[in-house]
This record gives sequence, structure tokens and C-alpha cells, in this order.
Amino acid sequence: MSKRIIVASGNEGKIREINEIMSAKDVEIVSMKAAGIVLDIVEDGTSFKENALIKAKAVWDALNEKEIVLADDSGLEVDYLNKEPGIYSARYMGEDTPYSIKNAKIIERLDGVPKEERTGRFVCAVAAVLPDGEEIIVQETMEGYIGYEERGTNGFGYDPIFRPEGYECSSGELPMEEKNEISHRGKAFRKMWSVIKDRI
Ligand code: IMP
Repeated sequence: MSKRIIVASGNEGKIREINEIMSAKDVEIVSMKAAGIVLDIVEDGTSFKENALIKAKAVWDALNEKEIVLADDSGLEVDYLNKEPGIYSARYMGEDTPYSIKNAKIIERLDGVPKEERTGRFVCAVAAVLPDGEEIIVQETMEGYIGYEERGTNGFGYDPIFRPEGYECSSGELPMEEKNEISHRGKAFRKMWSVIKDRI
């Protein structure tokens, strides 16, 4: 029987990607909602790693029967904007503001900035809390630069304005399997899997 892993996230775009990343592994990915956990987690950490651990621990604490909980915290760092929006990526300009507006704002803030100064990256920290309470954290990035317009309808969030290094398209134009090969989240979850696979 495959093991169950609870993912501490309510973001459907992320859950879809995590399911795809873990699809070949002998493990069942369950969202916290599907596991019956309803929590409003305050992400008040000062780094991606801290926030990932806060989320994983909050869900683990809420479980009566302890299982493996994974949580990721991710975001976009734009070097020219002093690494904004960073850990505030989801909350940038307000949580409910459509990404078409957030993306347009970032492009506007980079108006006239040449390609070599438009560098940035997606960052993803993944935290695990194992059934015995042990905590593990990993972090990975996808490097690239900010494009000049929105392109593509795959992915979510800031994907339409992000051009991965070595690609002529945005991460929003990549099919999900191709994005997962190179993405911050794909790399971080695969690394986490290599650490926990013999322990669960
Ligand atoms: P979190 O759910 O607190 O980790 O916030 C992650 C936020 O970072 C998302 O809501 C997006 O705004 C942004 N983000 C993270 N990963 C990606 C990605 O792969 N594509 C586009 N946006 C992303």
C-alpha cells in the first residue's frame, strides 16, 4: 500500500504541480483540505524556509494520528527590485489582486531596464515533518529574468512574465511536465523525496 503524504497548501496550482512531480513515486499526495484539516496559518517567518516549516508544523500539530506533512513556501525574487516580492509574492498588491495586475505592475517597475538587469528567480523551500516529529528543510531555485510582456496560460501566478534561463519562452508557456523538470518546486520536491524516501 502506498504511503500518504499530506501537503499543507490550499493553492490548487501548486497541488496540481506537486501531484505531477510525485506521480511516479509510490506515494499518495493529499491536500490538507482533503485530509480534513481546516486552518488559517499565519506565515510570519522571515524566510522561505521559516515559512515552509511554520506551515508544515501547523498541520502536523493539528493531526490526531501523526503522518508525514510536507509544505512548500515559494516566491519570485526580482534583483532590480531588491528581491521583491520575495516571501510576500502571494500577498504582493493584496492577496486577491489578479495576477494580470501584479504582473503588469512588475513589468511597469522594470520599464527601461535592460535584459541583463532583469534577472531574478523563483525560490522554493520544502519542509517536512515526519511522523516522529523530525523536521527536514530543503531549498532550490529556478534562475531567469523578467520578460517584457505576459506570455502563456500554463502555470499560475508570475509564470507569464518569467523567462527561465536558456529558454526563449516564459514558464507560463511550458507544458507542466517540462516546467517541473527545471522548476524550483520540481527540484525541491525531488530533493526532499530523495531524503525521506527511505524513512517513510
Ligand atoms: P506561497 O503559497 O505562500 O508559497 O506563495 C507562493 C506565491 O509565489 C504564489 O502565490 C505565486 O505568487 C508565487 N509563485 C511561487 N511559485 C510560482 C510558480 O511556479 N509560478 C508562478 N508563481 C509562483
